[in-house]
Amino acid sequence: MFKEGDFILIVYRDKKYLRVLREKESINVGKEVLKFKEIVGKPGGVKIGNFSVFKPTLHDIIMLGFRRKTQIIYPKDAFYITFRLGIDKQSKVLEFGTGSGALCAVLSHIAGEVYTYEREERFMKNATENLKRFSLSGNVRFFHSDFSDAQVEENFFDAAFVDVKHPQEHVEKVHYTLKPGATVGFLLPTANQVSELLKAIEDRFTDIEVSEILHRFYKPNPERLRPEDTMVGHTAYLLFARKVI
Ligand code: SAM
Repeated sequence: MFKEGDFILIVYRDKKYLRVLREKESINVGKEVLKFKEIVGKPGGVKIGNFSVFKPTLHDIIMLGFRRKTQIIYPKDAFYITFRLGIDKQSKVLEFGTGSGALCAVLSHIAGEVYTYEREERFMKNATENLKRFSLSGNVRFFHSDFSDAQVEENFFDAAFVDVKHPQEHVEKVHYTLKPGATVGFLLPTANQVSELLKAIEDRFTDIEVSEILHRFYKPNPERLRPEDTMVGHTAYLLFARKVI
């Protein structure tokens, strides 16, 4: 049952809003008003007029609740990344750069422990606030540091994910700190970055996969079912590989 202070997802026709439930507040959409005091004590899924109210999912939190100060990894990529890295609650995962913490939130949900490195203080502060606000930071260690300066142990991490402009500069150190056989993933916006990285990893990593994920949405009209007119054509390439010794 919803109570004061809960995060709520409000759905009104095709619009969505993530808010904190404060009894004295309300939301106006078009000419309709939802008074939040009507939500208190009601279960998720309650319909009040043309508004529906839900407990937000991790997807809602990242897309609607996180403050973005950098480009983020979208859920379509983040959920595949965590699955492809093969992580679970026993895994220690390395990530850099943290950016706005969007991927970090998904990693923290699935992994045992996440060590995340961000070199820009303002981005690290924002990412930390994003995760803390939604109680996602319990198993995350935040390091305000360039990964080049990080003190890392040999054979320590079960998986790593790298989202920085020049990942090839860090390949040797990532290899050093991963356990033998561990998985690594990289996100790269352009094809020439992929080529550069392929050249840099070939001696230390194997089982290499390069892919991109296209996600097409449909208009949910049963009589005229067809794709939305526009789609995001490209976010980034994903490269996965495994450490060999
Ligand atoms: N994956 C993040 C997310 O989902 O919110 C977005 C990452 S953002 C595109 C890239 C970040 O990497 C920037 O915040 C940048 O400051 C950081 N960065 C770049 N090089 C770095 C390095 N060598 N060590 C640590 N952080 C780095």
